[in-house]
Amino acid sequence: MDKYDAIVIGAGNGGLTAAIRLLQGGAKVLVLERHNLPGGFATSFRRGRFEFEASLHELNDFTPEGGDVRDLFDSLGVTDKIEWLPLPAAYRVICPSEKLDATIPFGKENVIAKMEEYVPGSRKSMERFFELAEEIRKAQAYTNAQNGIVESSYMVKHFGNYVRTGSYSVNEVLDAIGMPKRTQAILDAYWCYLGAPLSELSFTHYASMLLRYFDKGVMMPKHRSHEISTAMAERILELGGEIWYNTEAKRILTDENGAVCGVLLDDGRALETKHVVANVEPHIVYGRMMDKSAVTEEIVKATNARKLAGRGFSFFLGLNKTADELGIADHNYFLYDTTDSDKQYEIMKSLEKNAAQATVCLNRADPDCSPKGTTIMYFTTLFMSDCWGKVKVEDYYRTKDEVASRMIDRFEEFTGSKIKDSIEEISIATPMTYARYGNHPEGDIYGYEGTYNDGLNARLLMMKHDHMTKGLRFVGGHAMRLSGYSSAYFSGDIAGRQTVGDIKRGN
Ligand SMILES: Cc1cc2nc3c(=O)[nH]c(=O)nc-3n(C[C@H](O)[C@H](O)[C@H](O)COP(=O)(O)OP(=O)(O)OC[C@H]3O[C@@H](n4cnc5c(N)ncnc54)[C@H](O)[C@@H]3O)c2cc1C
Repeated sequence: MDKYDAIVIGAGNGGLTAAIRLLQGGAKVLVLERHNLPGGFATSFRRGRFEFEASLHELNDFTPEGGDVRDLFDSLGVTDKIEWLPLPAAYRVICPSEKLDATIPFGKENVIAKMEEYVPGSRKSMERFFELAEEIRKAQAYTNAQNGIVESSYMVKHFGNYVRTGSYSVNEVLDAIGMPKRTQAILDAYWCYLGAPLSELSFTHYASMLLRYFDKGVMMPKHRSHEISTAMAERILELGGEIWYNTEAKRILTDENGAVCGVLLDDGRALETKHVVANVEPHIVYGRMMDKSAVTEEIVKATNARKLAGRGFSFFLGLNKTADELGIADHNYFLYDTTDSDKQYEIMKSLEKNAAQATVCLNRADPDCSPKGTTIMYFTTLFMSDCWGKVKVEDYYRTKDEVASRMIDRFEEFTGSKIKDSIEEISIATPMTYARYGNHPEGDIYGYEGTYNDGLNARLLMMKHDHMTKGLRFVGGHAMRLSGYSSAYFSGDIAGRQTVGDIKRGN
């Protein structure tokens, strides 16, 4: 039987990062991936003469000078394998019912100045916001480095505001620092990147994310997110690791004590290992991949207590006109019915009503990303209920066309651009696509919902308690750093390092 120090199941962002960390720690590592290519959602695909980005809008905390993600990539040895593009502005948020149309630049000082221009009197609260966000970022970096095991007295002494704001929502803290409601409405636009309404999302989580986008810098790989995934896969091979594509892990094998002892493949082969890093959702792992005797009541309760996050719906357009001809001025749009994220969240439960969207025109970041005279756009929304699970088979194609059409209508109505007549290629991904492609229950693309009782703080500080099976650690959007590119990479970093420690200690 083949034997490895560690087996990583899934070559998504989290799995690839964990594998590199394990190899750097001296382990013999195998990565198993059911698809024929690495990356999971971090990939691209072709239709006709267009190569579409499958998911990434922007990679935060990454600049030519530095940033936490940049530092991570440097230490993994992948930064220089990738060609990087800067992005023009953070976002344009449009909400006609509230007469809101605002474009926010990058850079702390630029953001503060722009807010003051849109909402006179914003400056003081915006400055306070950035001060708090910086302290939170430092506290999180410290907690990561300590694997979640921190002294409360040390935290209070060094990161008092982190502790003070830790159990409050975004709305509560922004109100408390006296931020005008109109400023909040503009600042709140990124909420759909985390997918939980701001009355239930931890301020510390949102603030650290905003800081990473606004101030720490944002870039994009020129050859789509797949360029990152292939660079990481190449790095794994350079370090002596193995990646087996077209290979699904069917079962994680456990011994009589419930500890990991191997992995069973789809072709019936068994591999020996005492350490598995799963880039697979715990619901799938504990529900389908492990012997019932190894899944204790505590594990079942803890897993089921978590709420699945938004189910993804995206579509990708190749248009036969330039962005100028189509009247598309910006790179990154958020189009909402309302800036009240609680109300918007409710609307996003409905198959018939939801048209909220985060939409990208890739040519505004890279004019050469598509053939001359053409444009690439991608549209994403989240469904906050399992409404797609109720769509009958015979209604599936009609339903996905209806939702995509409604979202295009909204884009045209809100921005004044005309795109429908210029569509040369369209490809639509529904929650069913994401369930099949990524092995995600109900097609959720954001792992577990990060509401503040189970948000970033809680997950980081409770890492030890999340480790319930000896030899099994989780990475990816559903793991301790929650969803998103940077978060999935960081989870791989943490779980990879922790597993190296487990191996060295003989745990
Ligand atoms: C349309 C869309 C837009 C997005 N936009 C952004 C954005 O702009 N910014 C951002 O930060 N985040 C964005 N995200 C979220 C981001 O893509 C994810 O959070 C992140 O990529 C998740 O990474 P992961 O490590 O969980 O791996 P996943 O991408 O979930 O990959 C898991 C991998 O494991 C493999 N696998 C699963 N089960 C098995 C098995 N049993 N055996 C072998 N292999 C298995 C799968 O095939 C897959 O390759 C977006 C997501 C989508 C879908």
